Amino acid sequence: MEKTEKSDFKYIGNKLLTWYEKNARDLPFRQTKDPYKIWICEIVFQQTRINQGLNHYTNFIERFPDVKTLAEADENEVLLYWKGLGYYSRAINVHKAAQQIIKDYHGIFPREYEEILKLKGVGKYTAAAVSSICFNGRIPAVDGNFYRVLSRIFADGFDISNSKAFNYFSELAYLILPDNVGDFNQAMMDLGSEICKPKNPLCGECPLNQDCIAFLTHTISQFPVKTKKIKSEGLKLKYYFVHRNGEFLVQQRKDDFIWKKLFEFPPEISEALVPFIKSVKTVNHKLTHKNLSIEIYNVEVDSEEVWKHFIDENDYIITDYESSNQKSFPKPLENYIGNYQTAYRIL
Ligand code: SF4
Repeated sequence: MEKTEKSDFKYIGNKLLTWYEKNARDLPFRQTKDPYKIWICEIVFQQTRINQGLNHYTNFIERFPDVKTLAEADENEVLLYWKGLGYYSRAINVHKAAQQIIKDYHGIFPREYEEILKLKGVGKYTAAAVSSICFNGRIPAVDGNFYRVLSRIFADGFDISNSKAFNYFSELAYLILPDNVGDFNQAMMDLGSEICKPKNPLCGECPLNQDCIAFLTHTISQFPVKTKKIKSEGLKLKYYFVHRNGEFLVQQRKDDFIWKKLFEFPPEISEALVPFIKSVKTVNHKLTHKNLSIEIYNVEVDSEEVWKHFIDENDYIITDYESSNQKSFPKPLENYIGNYQTAYRIL
């Protein structure tokens, strides 16, 4: 599209604000400008739908109401409160970032966009959201919603999978940026998730339908343009659910390429345990850009001697169904334990 003076399109941002004043979703984090809470909310809801994450967000904030409490908490407890949200590396990062705020900023949340960006795990989107909502920073919080809405409004064919897409759509966002950028960013979030959805947008209810070139030219299905698909890589994993009388063995993962610091079953067993394998189950699980195929062997150790020997020879932690609730497991293993626990209770 042709470069145009910012003021020519600013009315679009203002229209959106008028709509937001009447239609903003009533969400707990909308009642505050506390940067700590806004930051946690932005991280929690990055990959999680609002209704799925709301209880987790509330519980997390209740337990860790401020930077200091979070910084001083044990990492395993932080992971536990993240349970159900997935993407556990985000929990590890918020914990580290809280400690960074204590150490580098005397416990006071940084105000400037560039400083917020230095916090562990904080990207441009989150830094812009916190800066605009809490400190009146004039930076659009550009994410997938912005790409979609802006490409449709301007019927702009810039490829959103292009590495320059972020800068390109940031420039477009500046064209329509009104004075109240904090509300504008939240309005774009609401419009993108409630009205201008990826499929079947509700154009009839959209406050911008008379300004949206894609709508007016019946070309919505052509926008946004995305050419490259990121391929998911296949990955095979093997676990042994080694158990006896309601107890089973686990270990904590190290800082690894997936599932950092979560608990897992033993990935291998000794020869002596092989005769106790009762069954095997294959579970498929998708992570971002990874398709996992996980074989889980059910190893029911009937012999006390073999059980004790295996424990003595290895560093696994013995746990039971109840105390395993206090540990965070990857989702497929958590489901496996849940199913087994139900079967165990029935027996
Ligand atoms: S009119 Fe339709 S396509 Fe255009 S911004 Fe609104 S919801 Fe999206």
